This record gives sequence, C-alpha cells and structure tokens, in this order.
Amino acid sequence: MNFYELIVIGGGAAGLMAAYAAATSARDDATRKIRVAVLEKMPRPGRKLMLTGKGRCNLTNVKNWEDFQIHVHPNPRPLRPAFYQLSPEKLLQLMAEEGLETVVERGDRAFPASHRAVDVVDTLQRMVCNRGVQIFCGKEVTGIQRLPADNESGIETAEPRFEMLCADGSRWRCRSLLIATGGLAYPMTGSSGDGLRWAKELGLSLKPTFPSLTALVPTGYKTAEINNEHIIERDTPLSELGQLFRGISLKNVGLTLYIDNTRVREEVGDLDFTDGGLEGPLGFRFSRQCVHAMRNGSHIRLEIDLKPGVSEDKLSREQKSLAELLPGDIARAFSATAPDRNNATAVPKGLTEMARLAYLLKHWSFPIAGYVGYERSVVTAGGVSTDEISPKTLNVKNIPGLYLAGELLDLDADTGGYNLQIAFCTGFLAGQSAVHSML
Ligand SMILES: Cc1cc2nc3c(=O)[nH]c(=O)nc-3n(C[C@H](O)[C@H](O)[C@H](O)COP(=O)(O)OP(=O)(O)OC[C@H]3O[C@@H](n4cnc5c(N)ncnc54)[C@H](O)[C@@H]3O)c2cc1C
Repeated sequence: MNFYELIVIGGGAAGLMAAYAAATSARDDATRKIRVAVLEKMPRPGRKLMLTGKGRCNLTNVKNWEDFQIHVHPNPRPLRPAFYQLSPEKLLQLMAEEGLETVVERGDRAFPASHRAVDVVDTLQRMVCNRGVQIFCGKEVTGIQRLPADNESGIETAEPRFEMLCADGSRWRCRSLLIATGGLAYPMTGSSGDGLRWAKELGLSLKPTFPSLTALVPTGYKTAEINNEHIIERDTPLSELGQLFRGISLKNVGLTLYIDNTRVREEVGDLDFTDGGLEGPLGFRFSRQCVHAMRNGSHIRLEIDLKPGVSEDKLSREQKSLAELLPGDIARAFSATAPDRNNATAVPKGLTEMARLAYLLKHWSFPIAGYVGYERSVVTAGGVSTDEISPKTLNVKNIPGLYLAGELLDLDADTGGYNLQIAFCTGFLAGQSAVHSML
C-alpha cells in the first residue's frame, strides 16, 4: 500500500499545475511533511498538451477577467477565484521564472516563444519534479473508495480518507485527493471520462456532456448516414460535394445561425472547410450552440455572407461577374451549391440576375447534418456541476479532502487559450487549497 498526503489523478495541464502548486505550498510551510504524487495512466504526462495549438500550445489568453469571462461557458462565475489566483499574467510570469519564454500574438493568445508544445510539457514536468513530487506513469486508476471517517472531532489528522485501485493491482491511499482526469475529448490522449464516472459514483451531480469546438458537417458533405446523435466521425469519407469544399478557407465572412428557422446569432470571422466539415475559429465558436441544439432535436442551418462589408444593394449595382467577385475554388463550390440550396429556402422572387447573385453571395445556405464526436473534438462541454464545489477552494462541498480541477468540471471555453487557462488556474487553486487544509 502506498501512502501520500495528497494524490493527484491525471498528469495533464490541470493535474501537473495542481501538483506544482501543492508541493510549493507545502514547502512554503515546512511545519508538516506533505508528500504529493501524481498518478497518470499514459506512459508519459501531458499527452494532450503536446497536441494543443496544432503543436504550438496556445497556453493562455492574456485578456483581463471582464473580457476573458465572455468566452467561458456555461457560467464563468465559479471560475473567478481560480482565475485571480493564477491569472494569465501570473501564469506567464511563472513560466518565465521556470525558463520558458512566451510570446503574445493576435487575439491576446500566448504561446511558447519556441512555438513547441513539448517545451511547455517539459517545463511543467521539471517544475513538478524539482519540488519533490513523484509522477507515476502507466498508473490507470480504476476505482476510488472513501475510507470510513477516523476522526469525528474535526481535528485534522494524517489518516487516509481515500483509497485508489490501479489497473496493475497497486493500491494507493491519501489524505486529500485531487481529480484532474479531464473530459471525454480526444480519448487517445488518455482523457476518457473516468473522473466523470467516479464523480457520479461519489454522488455528485453532472451536467450532460457533449463535444464542443468541433467540426460541423453540412448536409451531403460526407458519404455516411447520420445516427440519432448526429455524430459523423471525422474519418467518414467525403462525398463529391465534400471534396469540392475541402481546403477552402474563407477570411472575414459573416456567419448566421438559424435554429429551427429562427435567426439566433451572427458574427464575422474565418471559416475553413476541412476533411471533418466546417471548422476554423468562427465555425468552432458556433459549434457549442449547434451541437447542443442538434442533441435537443433542433434543425440547424448556417448562412455564410461572403461579402459582409458590402450591402446587397451595392453588390447588385456593381455588375461584376462571379469570377471577379470570388477566387476560383470558392466560385466553383458556390456555383455548385448556392442556387439549388437557396431555391429550397427563400430567394425573393422577381430579382434581376445580378440582384439574385448578390442575394446568394450574402445568404449562402448550409443545412447541418451533424458534427464530429469526442474522438476529434477539442473540448468537452458539461461535466461535474460547479454547484458541487466551493469556488474559493475547489473542494467538493460535502466531501472533505476531495478537490476537482480542469475540464472535468462544467466549464469550457472558446478557442484562444481559454481552456488551458481554465485547466491551469483551477489546478493551481485546487492544489494550494488541498495542502492548506492539511497544514
Ligand atoms: C487537439 C487539441 C488541441 C487543443 N488546443 C488547445 C489550445 O491551443 N489552447 C487551449 O487553451 N486549449 C486547447 N485544447 C484544450 C485543452 O487541451 C484541454 O482543455 C486541457 O488539456 C484540459 O486539461 P485537463 O488537465 O483538465 O485534462 P487533460 O489535459 O485531458 O489531462 C487529463 C489527464 O488525466 C489522465 N487520466 C485520465 N483518466 C485517468 C485514470 N483513470 N487514471 C490515471 N490518469 C488518468 C489522462 O491520461 C490525462 O493525462 C486543445 C485540445 C485538443 C484535443
């Protein structure tokens, strides 16, 4: 039987930062020895971190809280104390102290100056190990058990409160337990939802989970039929139509979302058609709302405005040909789809040819058949309800000694470094709190 005062399950962004914060707090107050261990099921920690930002790791976003919280869903308030405990500036300062230079790019997004995600993982691992934390890899926790209360007096003792069993048969006990096992997205990185299962077993309430920051698949884009959940896996072959679109990037276009034919949202940004479907920063921003609505049985339609800066009226008076208005690949895809699709919706009758073209350019319609599932979605929406935790400590309200951090919680965000900031700052606060409660 192995005993540590604090065990962190999961060596991802949240877990590594939690272990660092815990070990640092324990050292600051050396009155009692607090040993910290990380149990990670993969052969090495930070597997998902390595993939982040297309291998460049967009590790945070340096917006202030007011601007940051707009990008956090479904409710940013429980995140606030953690955000201030390790704000984006503090995170970057900490990284600099540990030898990792960073740069801030367009949209306040911070990256390692080397543009190598592996440097972030190495830095975190070094920070943790230098503080005496032991990281055990290949340790897949399969079950958690709460041990009977030893001490009714309320005085802190070193008695264990939790016991974990690993797939290799090893048993681990700890006084405080911090679960940072992530969500369900990209399960090949190790995040397969184990923490969500344990949370349920421990009696915590969960908000329904669904993939977010994922490709939306237009009707007819792939060869496969959709299932009830509207999941169309990324490797499903493209149809002829999909092949026509794949590789098209649209810069600064307007996107309008219709849910059951009601216009609900409109934004301008960049869209990419890929082998998955409709992606890019703008597509990702809309994906959370689209997936959620589809899972509730609603019909989704997106409308692209190829000329958001020009009014329909002005466009129709310009008397330009399609070749003058659009690059070749976009013009081809547009000609093949826009007239048909819009006949099925509502092109005003009696327009001149040019006015009709102007209308179609500003209302290119894409009914959405489904979305790419957890296998290749960036983040999990939903998770352990934030009502279950005290935001100032991230302690589970009714379970002394149990802390939660990272994507496991019902907190997710847009692309732009927000999700890693959530993981880092909740890990940091939970790690500190877990140790402070034992001092
Ligand atoms: C392709 C991709 C790119 C991304 N890019 C960015 C980006 O650039 N910027 C950004 O902000 N966010 C990005 N994200 C999102 C971000 O990576 C996650 O939100 C973040 O990693 C969540 O951190 P976490 O520590 O909660 O979970 P994870 O990083 O998923 O870590 C959980 C860890 O727990 C371990 N674990 C799980 N179950 C067990 C078990 N039973 N026993 C032991 N260990 C276990 C896992 O192996 C894993 O190492 C990206 C995500 C993906 C998939």
